[in-house]
Amino acid sequence: MAAQIIDGSGIASKIKEELKPRIANLRATGLIPGLAVVLVGNDPASEVYVRMKGKACEELGMYSRSVNMPETVSEEDLLKNIDYLHADPRVHGILVQTPLPEHIDSDKITLHIDPEKDVDAFHPVNVGKMLIGMPGMLPCTPHGIQELLVRSGNSPEGKHVVVVGRSNIVGKPVAAILMQKAKGANATVTVCHSGTQNLASITKQADILVAAMGRPAFIKADMVKDGVVVIDVGSSRVDDPSAKHGYRLVGDVDFEAVSRKAKAITPVPGGVGPMTIAMLMSNTVAAAEEHFRHVQKRKR
Ligand code: NAP
Repeated sequence: MAAQIIDGSGIASKIKEELKPRIANLRATGLIPGLAVVLVGNDPASEVYVRMKGKACEELGMYSRSVNMPETVSEEDLLKNIDYLHADPRVHGILVQTPLPEHIDSDKITLHIDPEKDVDAFHPVNVGKMLIGMPGMLPCTPHGIQELLVRSGNSPEGKHVVVVGRSNIVGKPVAAILMQKAKGANATVTVCHSGTQNLASITKQADILVAAMGRPAFIKADMVKDGVVVIDVGSSRVDDPSAKHGYRLVGDVDFEAVSRKAKAITPVPGGVGPMTIAMLMSNTVAAAEEHFRHVQKRKR
């Protein structure tokens, strides 16, 4: 039977639709949810992501601000600019696009962002809340993966999820989210990385495989079992002279071969990517709502 293609674009549109009444409620009080994205340098992939985030804000009637700084900006100036954004009442969410140039300590930048405006949810306060299962902002890509699974009818509850990759932005947090004793989670999670021995023997045990390695088409059909659900987070630019921009995006999974064995699989593009943006919009709206509640409380 042909694999179910998990439609990330469609699910992301639905999530954005669901945000509209919440945005309208805020706007009725005079508050427009706002997102500021800081871009350092001119990495072409980062420029595309920043543009997409701005466009998503516009489509939803949210305020969007993009702050572009040169590759040579000092750490001090970058921190100062984040402070300006902290002080800007139109901004409820702040995101600093990565990767950052080497002379900037990205941990220092992450720690500097007010956890209440940290819509990427990378600040240790938000990471800690996620780990212990406290309500709060969840990181966009991992939360998007959970939503994709649940909304496509492939709930991770009770399943063995194998995550390949242990980065702080995808692998570790998706494992933390899916292992929670909570609805839409409650999975048994195994995390693999470059130090894992005999990777295929572990990926073959997966009911749900989350590939977040950044290695184009690395996961082959003989590395998965029949009926697996595959979430392909990978998004690598591979040269392709026949493509419009001279490259195409390739996931970590050999889609053609693996989809013949899988029960369900996400495409690249059109799978995880759109979900990341939808969850970013969701976090920004939640941050604006939280700000509104604070203001109301202070008035009382
Ligand atoms: P990363 O920081 O480079 O981490 C890659 C992880 O994969 C590391 O933990 C690494 O292990 C592991 N790995 C690499 N080669 C491996 C191998 N041969 N066997 C087992 N594990 C291996 O990457 P990332 O930031 O998590 O991103 C991963 C991919 O997802 C990239 O393609 C990125 O572009 C994509 N991504 C997409 C979205 C989206 O919205 N669609 C968002 C974020 C990321 P070690 O820890 O041992 O080095």
